[in-house]
Amino acid sequence: MVTVLPLQVLEYFPYPEVRIHQDQFINTIHNAVNARQSVLIEGSNGLGKTISALSACLPVAIEKKLKILYVARTHRQHERVIDELRMIYKKHPISGISIKGRNEMCLNAFAANGAFDSRSLMEMCDLLKSKGRCPYYKNVDLQTYDYLQLVKQLATRPYTATEIQQICKKKELCPYELVKASLSDTKVIALSYLYAFDPLIRTAFLKHINTDLSKIILVVDEAHNLSETAVDISSSNLSLFVLRQAELEANHYGNKEIERFAHFFREEIEKLTENINREEIIDANRIIDIIQKCGISNPREFFENMHEVGAGIRRSMLAEGKNPRSYVNSMSDFLLYWLETCDNSSYINVACRYYTEKNQKTAKLEIVALDPSKITEPVFSATYANVVMSGTLQPLDAYLKITKLPNNSAQFIASSPFPREHIFSAVCCGVTTAMEKRTPIMYKTMIKRIVEVVENTPKNTGIFVASFDVMNSLLNEGLALALDRPLYKEERGMTSKQNEKLVSDFKSCGNKTGAVFLGVLGGRTSEGVDFPGDQMNSVIIVGVPYAEPTPRVKAQIDYYEKCFPRFGREYGYILPAMKKASQAAGRPVRTLDDRGVIIFLDSRYATGYCRSFLPSWVNTGMKTLPDQDGVLAKEVQAFFSFTEASL
Ligand code: SF4
Repeated sequence: MVTVLPLQVLEYFPYPEVRIHQDQFINTIHNAVNARQSVLIEGSNGLGKTISALSACLPVAIEKKLKILYVARTHRQHERVIDELRMIYKKHPISGISIKGRNEMCLNAFAANGAFDSRSLMEMCDLLKSKGRCPYYKNVDLQTYDYLQLVKQLATRPYTATEIQQICKKKELCPYELVKASLSDTKVIALSYLYAFDPLIRTAFLKHINTDLSKIILVVDEAHNLSETAVDISSSNLSLFVLRQAELEANHYGNKEIERFAHFFREEIEKLTENINREEIIDANRIIDIIQKCGISNPREFFENMHEVGAGIRRSMLAEGKNPRSYVNSMSDFLLYWLETCDNSSYINVACRYYTEKNQKTAKLEIVALDPSKITEPVFSATYANVVMSGTLQPLDAYLKITKLPNNSAQFIASSPFPREHIFSAVCCGVTTAMEKRTPIMYKTMIKRIVEVVENTPKNTGIFVASFDVMNSLLNEGLALALDRPLYKEERGMTSKQNEKLVSDFKSCGNKTGAVFLGVLGGRTSEGVDFPGDQMNSVIIVGVPYAEPTPRVKAQIDYYEKCFPRFGREYGYILPAMKKASQAAGRPVRTLDDRGVIIFLDSRYATGYCRSFLPSWVNTGMKTLPDQDGVLAKEVQAFFSFTEASL
């Protein structure tokens, strides 16, 4: 084996050969972590980022008695970590577990189906356990021989969450508790971002694994998602629906004071939002005035008391055999958070008007966090080291500033392992989704370009558009009729199950005569699904997915401008759009054998400014094609004919 990996890493790296540029990727991580330094690193698909990070970090983790927390977005990614650990295990004994959220691990249908989210399940689970109402926990509590054997077994080799669930189902044990008991002896844990970044979940989790952040090497995979996740974690909302339910709940449990408050507050919020066109930033004091108008002189005390009442209601519900979900609790938590954040300039308060799925007009209040670093920095600054990686992180400097990774973090962009002849990327001139140029003629030209790609692509083509408005305009101008292959179309509000079915039907056409998938940029398909081989040979990105300039988007830009003078628009507006486009561009090129066409149908991608945000594996050699019929068709045809001939 010809390689330049250090001996300590070779002890763990399980494959006979490293891929081209993979050794640089591994060495950069290993050197940084070994020096107790964080690293921000971009590497394209096909580089083997997961095995690289594991092999680079394990020698340090073993020597210094640290744990590796590997956070990623999907279960498939968590399971990939365990698959790679199994390869390492053949060379070197190592333990590892992938865990799902408690709501997915939980076998108690009453709890799992009834909780709103992971936090509410955590509370519900605690209640059920304390009341002896969970049979799966009771079996754990009995500490049977079987249970104790399983705890030991889990800490000896790699297991996926699904395997653990299957074992627990047979033995009627709580998988979450079994995993918790094994974690303190497990070296690598693959899990969702929330375990590392949600302060409440992290505190409980670290307690269970009996360690603190200083003993952890944190690997953040698909890290381009992190700032969005961090903002979601620290944002919250309260709808008119919840207020109405809280009023009914307070009435049911005989609390007149809370009932009166919920009623009055709801009516005031209805008045406040009556004339709002979608959303408006409001002064936090407007809500505090409403609260005081209701005769509450000490809001904090009132809401803390309301929180206690909510906790009591949940206990009563549980005793009545009902799902312990309290709207009074939700209302009090939101209003306490409002008081906590109202003087903090890294949050804004928003009032929104919107339509429900049944087309009824309603409203909500939102606390919107603007600063992801408030969530990420406390973690990054406390761990032993952080490995932050993705295929789309550029510009690294911006990422470092936005998330407040330590200033001395190593930064590296790995060259793509894809042979240049495996990717054809191009921008078409003469087309754009810029608002002032959206005309029927423009959409008709786009359809012509799409057809040129589809007709010259061997099997499947993906089209990802800037918004549902752009999608509808393309369809209105005859996109479906112009295509000679079946069209699979994402719909607004589709459930994840419906989407999975749509994607799987589309993928299966890769084995037949090919099809076209039409989705939106930034959606779950354009970022979360892999399409190797003929599942997607070509991808077309229609338009630049800039966010609508809503008040919250403007507030985000202003906030970043204040923190990073001259970069507000870039960080708050340009980067998120370019990230979405880059993610979609990578869908067809997942493995080193893939050959893919990546077409940008918007001339703005040809500018040096936009190109500077595209990853190098797309940007290198990207052609700019003239506004002329047939040119794109010829290029795509030539690329795939060459590919076929060279196979
Ligand atoms: S103890 Fe386990 S099975 Fe029972 S509610 Fe909690 S997570 Fe679910």
